[in-house]
Amino acid sequence: MYAKIIVDISHENVDRPFEYRIPEYLLSQVKIGSSVMIPFGKGNTVRQGYVVEITQTSEYDPSKIKDILEMPKKDVAAEDKMLQLAAWMKHRYGSTMITAMKTVLPARQKKKSLEKKELVRLLSEEETKQLYDEVAGKHQTAKARLLQELIGIERLPYELVKQKLHIAPATIASLEKQGVIAIESTRIYRNPVQFSGGIVPKKILSTEQQQIVDAIIRDYDNGNPGTYLIHGITGSGKTEVYMELIENCIKRGRQAIVLIPEIALTYQTVMRFYRRFGKRVSVMNSSLSAGEKYDQCERAKNGDIDVIIGPRSALFTPFQKLGLIVIDEEHEPSYKSETMPKYHARETAIYLASLHGASVVLGSATPSMESFYHAKRGDYGLFTLNTRLTGNVLPSVHVADLRTELKEGNRSIFSRKLQELIEDRLDKKQQIMLFLNRRGYAGFVSCRSCGHVMTCPHCDVSLSEHKGNKLVCHYCGYETLKVSLCPECGSKYILGFKAGTEAVEDKLKEMYPGAKVLRMDGDTTKTKDSYEKILSAFSEGEADILLGTQMIVKGHDFPNVTLVGVLAADMSLFAGDYRAAERTFQLLTQAAGRAGRGEAAGEVVIQTYQPEHYSIVHSANQDYDAFYEEEILYRELAHYPPAEHMLAVLVTSKQENSAMEQAQRMADLLRNTWKSEKLTVMGPASASIGKIQDIYRMVLYCKSADYEMLVQAKDLMEQNGYENTQMQFDFNPISSY
Ligand code: ADP
Ligand code: ZN
Ligand code: ZN
Repeated sequence: MYAKIIVDISHENVDRPFEYRIPEYLLSQVKIGSSVMIPFGKGNTVRQGYVVEITQTSEYDPSKIKDILEMPKKDVAAEDKMLQLAAWMKHRYGSTMITAMKTVLPARQKKKSLEKKELVRLLSEEETKQLYDEVAGKHQTAKARLLQELIGIERLPYELVKQKLHIAPATIASLEKQGVIAIESTRIYRNPVQFSGGIVPKKILSTEQQQIVDAIIRDYDNGNPGTYLIHGITGSGKTEVYMELIENCIKRGRQAIVLIPEIALTYQTVMRFYRRFGKRVSVMNSSLSAGEKYDQCERAKNGDIDVIIGPRSALFTPFQKLGLIVIDEEHEPSYKSETMPKYHARETAIYLASLHGASVVLGSATPSMESFYHAKRGDYGLFTLNTRLTGNVLPSVHVADLRTELKEGNRSIFSRKLQELIEDRLDKKQQIMLFLNRRGYAGFVSCRSCGHVMTCPHCDVSLSEHKGNKLVCHYCGYETLKVSLCPECGSKYILGFKAGTEAVEDKLKEMYPGAKVLRMDGDTTKTKDSYEKILSAFSEGEADILLGTQMIVKGHDFPNVTLVGVLAADMSLFAGDYRAAERTFQLLTQAAGRAGRGEAAGEVVIQTYQPEHYSIVHSANQDYDAFYEEEILYRELAHYPPAEHMLAVLVTSKQENSAMEQAQRMADLLRNTWKSEKLTVMGPASASIGKIQDIYRMVLYCKSADYEMLVQAKDLMEQNGYENTQMQFDFNPISSY
């Protein structure tokens, strides 16, 4: 037996494995992911290496191949666990070991040390308050924003102030000149946020919160750490629970990872953790340089920090003794990687935690079907937090039936209810958010008269409109001609569904010429920071209406928003994949949660052609459990996750014929191999975007209750590659191809 081994994990070498023979006596011990000692180079210096592949035969002259010497004596705990994790990811998500290793191990780039700039407040807290009042009175909003932050804290990191608070260097310089602040530079480890302000005393937990904390800690202390789901509406105190758990974790000499979707990783969120844990916290996010990321890993490894906050990739922070992983907003699709290995952070966290004996805490107002399914089956502990601690009430929700609007002669994109409320809010100088839950290429066809949607008879998902008057299923390839009359009610208003934020903006300007509108979508957020800029402009009251895609429903709180309008709930409801209803429920619930965060009560208008659809009914009632019960029935009947597992296979080629042939060959191969019902194959079909940059894309899907069977199917397909074609695998895909 031979092993392909990567020498050291310094990045230059990662791409090139070397081959060694596995001596007889080590055969049972050497596995993919093992670390081994090997003679390396001309001088045969003993180095540590990592096994990435094991083969029966060698590609080289056997007489020239060296033997593995031995397994290392003392284990390199953190790194070994990361390699075990990589091996698990390789198996579960079907990547190569090298790609998996690159994902879990930090880049080793030597960077020269850095200076860190901080703002230091020179005035007393009282004086700062006075100055704040003065400046705020003069409407110097940027200065006021900075001063407000400085009232509570003596020091603020310069970069954070510039980027997250959007304070221009000139403003900072002017405050420095006035003697309000000083700018200090120190040489440091690259820590993205330096914080030396006061630690804020913790809140006394409510009985419900304390019960959750106690139960999780009890399991941990009994040597039985588990996975837990906290189902709690926004503002119900989940974060306070996380922080108490983290504190307990640190007390036990362990470290914690907190995953928060990048989009929700705001200044306020980060500062909240700093105020509680001070310098022992660090942040990882995509705007950090490679050097900064590397330094965070070093600090974690050296035990200089106890807590790391970040998106998906923060999971790979090399802590020696991990005690807790928190995943906030666990339903967010951004927890699934879009590049190989296409891992899900939730599953990966649970595996990583099992290696360390750590607990995993998932939190969401609208848990994913997967997590709630596991919680209901008893795989995860389930806790519920029902009350908003901030005291404000839940908004009232109106559902506007667009079919009735049409019948009664209203052809505008705004229902009469929404128009009435928009006018009311503009009068009252309260803010409005309008939300178009467009999903890239939703091309479904529906009847404006009765709401009927054309769906695939085999897959229970909506059909998409294609060129040549065709309606196509993106799962199985079923095709039918576009109808001109509704098969349900005979109306001629059966049409494709198109609406863009730009068109809505024009309409708004026409109908409400006096109103100031900010638009946020893919087009207006292309540049770095534009997302935060639009949101802070809105929060400063620079516009009456914020119009946007789903990006506007996440993160920020706007106390002056008292009306939220969802313009076309159907857009996400019929997106042509099995998660459409779940995503709609989540988006509508989140959108509704945006209204009435301040003193005034909020109202929500959901516009739809299908007011009776369960995801709309239950989100209007804010009834998660009822939604779950209906949705899980559908998943079980149609064998979709979480009831079963799914594997998407994307076949690409520069030649259309090759792509089609290979996809068909693979479908036939799988069908012939698994004649039983245990693995079903759907397709092949043209992907929803059939061609990208002259590469043709075909897709097929497999479903099985047995995950391992899908892994076998993937292995079989890999052995049956075809010239000029590539295959990509995605286990339990989060969106359709
Ligand atoms: P979530 O994470 O569920 O959105 P948070 O933990 O952010 O909820 O809590 C919402 C608000 O209630 C925050 O302002 C928080 O400071 C406050 N809060 C949470 N728990 C308590 C508590 N036990 N006592 C007082 N205030 C609390
Ligand atoms: Zn109809
Ligand atoms: Zn179909």
